[in-house]
Amino acid sequence: MLQKQKLPTGALVPENCGAKGCKIGVPSGLSEEHLCILHFTLFIENECAEMRRETALGSNKHERQVEFMQKIARRGETLVNTATSGFPMSDELKARVLSTLLTLMNTRENMDRALMRQSSARRFAG
Ligand SMILES: [Zn+2]
Repeated sequence: MLQKQKLPTGALVPENCGAKGCKIGVPSGLSEEHLCILHFTLFIENECAEMRRETALGSNKHERQVEFMQKIARRGETLVNTATSGFPMSDELKARVLSTLLTLMNTRENMDRALMRQSSARRFAG
C-alpha cells in the first residue's frame, strides 16, 4: 500500500504557501509543491507556456518531449486529486482549476501536433 501521507488530502498541512507575499494555507494534496491551490495553478500555467515555447522551436529531442508529457500528466493528476479531495474552494478557484486543466490538455495536444509535424518533415526529407 502506498500510504506515505497520514493526512487526508482535504486537510491543510501546517504550512503557508511558498509564493512571495501569499499567506494562504497549503492543502495536504500539495504538500510536496509547498503552494496554495491558486499559486499551484499559476505555476502550472507558467510551466505550460514554457513547454509550448520550447516545443514551438521544434528542436526538442524525443526524451525531452516524453519528459514534458509525463510532467503534464503528473500536474493534472495532482491538481485533480487536490480539487476533488473535499478541500473547500471558492467558485472562482474552481473555475481557475478548470481553466488550468484546459491549459494542460491544450499543451499536450500542441505537443502531439508538433511531433506529427516533425515526423512527417523527416519523412519528406529522407
Ligand atoms: Zn499562494
